[in-house]
Amino acid sequence: MAKIFCVANQKGGVGKTTTTVNLAAGLAKLNQRVLLVDLDPQGNATMGAGINKATLKASTYEVLLGTADVASAVLRSEAGRFDVLPANRELAGAEVEMVQLENRERRLRDALALAAKDYDFMLIDCPPALSMLTLNGLCAAHGVIIPMQCEYYALEGLSDLVNTIKKVHANLNPDLKIIGLLRVMFDPRMTLSQQVSAQLEQHFGDKVFKTIIPRNVRLAEAPSYGMPGVTFDPTSKGAQAYIAFGAEMVKRIKKM
Ligand code: ATP
Ligand code: MG
Repeated sequence: MAKIFCVANQKGGVGKTTTTVNLAAGLAKLNQRVLLVDLDPQGNATMGAGINKATLKASTYEVLLGTADVASAVLRSEAGRFDVLPANRELAGAEVEMVQLENRERRLRDALALAAKDYDFMLIDCPPALSMLTLNGLCAAHGVIIPMQCEYYALEGLSDLVNTIKKVHANLNPDLKIIGLLRVMFDPRMTLSQQVSAQLEQHFGDKVFKTIIPRNVRLAEAPSYGMPGVTFDPTSKGAQAYIAFGAEMVKRIKKM
């Protein structure tokens, strides 16, 4: 049965999609069967996996509204060697259309449950908002991975996210936990990065992943080739870090 993780942070541009795509590819390298779920109307994870978001026959949108099932909407990322439930801007409409549906927070969870036996991991790339879409992600997941940049404003907004996760845990999904905070786009030459990183360790202890993802231009270039950084340039520092992160995740969930 698949373990399901949400990659979430309501801040924009903090590395959610880069983390989701490269963790998926990293886990695939470890022979795990992975489904990446694109829950963001921007469709960046879809594109980053090498799938054209403009020509989708079915997507996360149809799955949430119940007009397609996961198995029929899934496409293969040949570059990353994982499956993708793709998304595009249509998904923005689901936010409004789901309001009238019953069980609207649990639609993704119910849909993914039917495919859970086909995968070891499902990774959900959330949009930069604490919206109905993100709520669906949190209701579907066993755990949340929170990517964070080690900068001055990093901790601001974190409490809103943590409170939302607590509320979902209490009211909608008792399985939900914070798996960990992942330090991304890390620049070791910056004193501030070091300070914020140390602060995170102090406050959150072993909830902070040991692996640190450095700022690495190869990770930023990879999406324009429709490839995860991990496969685009496997020897780059960024790719190596995400492969190590995959191994850390596998280890961590064995304890869950
Ligand atoms: P959004 O909130 O819009 O969904 P996001 O949180 O998914 O954004 P990404 O799209 O993953 O963030 O990253 C934002 C930008 O930073 C992208 O251009 C990406 O290529 C770049 N980036 C992410 N991680 C790294 C890294 N470790 N090194 C260099 N560039 C990175
Ligand atoms: Mg994104």
